Amino acid sequence: MVHQNMFNLKRLTFFRRLLLKERVGALIICWVVGGLLASCSSPQYPYKIYALTGETMGTTYHIKIVLPTDKNLPENIGNEVHSCLEKIDSLMSTYQEDSELMQFNRHKEGTPFPVSEETKKVFEIAMKVAEETDGAFDITVYPLVELWGFGKREVSAPPSEDVIKQVLANVGYKKLKILPEGLKKEDTEMQCDLSAVAKGYAVDKVCELLDLKGMGSYMVEVGGEVKVKGEKLPGQPWIVGIEYPEPMSRKVFKRVQLKDYAMATSGNYRNYFIWNGKRYSHEIDPITGYPVPHTLASVSVVHRSCAFADAYATAFMVMGLEKAYKFAEEHNIPAFFIYPENGVTFSYKETSSWKNYRL
Ligand code: ADP
Ligand code: MG
Repeated sequence: MVHQNMFNLKRLTFFRRLLLKERVGALIICWVVGGLLASCSSPQYPYKIYALTGETMGTTYHIKIVLPTDKNLPENIGNEVHSCLEKIDSLMSTYQEDSELMQFNRHKEGTPFPVSEETKKVFEIAMKVAEETDGAFDITVYPLVELWGFGKREVSAPPSEDVIKQVLANVGYKKLKILPEGLKKEDTEMQCDLSAVAKGYAVDKVCELLDLKGMGSYMVEVGGEVKVKGEKLPGQPWIVGIEYPEPMSRKVFKRVQLKDYAMATSGNYRNYFIWNGKRYSHEIDPITGYPVPHTLASVSVVHRSCAFADAYATAFMVMGLEKAYKFAEEHNIPAFFIYPENGVTFSYKETSSWKNYRL
């Protein structure tokens, strides 16, 4: 089995964590210094653009904050942003055995499991998208993610049909209830994975933090999910790129202009493996238990909430072009679909509301 995992965030998470343990002191210093040094201004506009970058949740983050030259970045903002992201990771990671999520996954009592406000919120968003998409988005897919080798486990071949059926028996978002006392499993073997929504939520939380600090213009990106506030400079919107859907390419396929919106992208071009000439990617159909046979290379979704954008983008990959396009049109969700054509090139399709963001 060949893993094309050069940019596989989940695998990166695992290996990086091992490395990070050794290097954490040095990294934090670099990140703080980097954050403070990276600024520039334009003679026409007396503004400075500050950049904060770092690593969290098994991926990287990049934040740009625009401030008038006579204003300074709030003290300690770099540390606060980093702690905010680390906290979300410590609650929702499937790579930290002591995370709140993994404790919930091990909870087999059938009694409600109390969780933090943050985790509850992410579960609520996930359940809403699961219901709307008829279970195309389903966080209870975790045992299948592990079974297919897209989590911590290395696998040497696709699982057998029997094993898939067995694991599927414990999958299904209807087995999960969110109660005031906590999260309740109706099937105690059920386990959840928030990877398809937590990064988007992390973006939203950093934005909330920057809002509280009075920042009026910024761009926050965590592992490719992005949200902006205001304009970059007067008369200049924030511009973000949708990548060309190829593993080794960093080319931009389309540019998008955003103001006070988030954009998330899901794709099958980074996190997949090939077995006997067949490509298996990390979006799993919770109904069949198999990685989705792809008609799509990537989907980008624009939404006020980055957590919702993230979840919808994954759901749309699972639904496939036709179904997802119809759903996005009916729900007035701006979405941009890239799909392979003739095996050599890519075409795209956009929903009607996407035109508001097109450049
Ligand atoms: P990325 O993490 O690369 O941004 P996604 O947001 O699409 O990509 O998340 C994909 C991850 O979500 C998978 O690696 C897996 O952990 C999880 N997942 C896979 N299938 C589903 C699904 N149908 N519903 C919810 N989560 C899923
Ligand atoms: Mg997602």
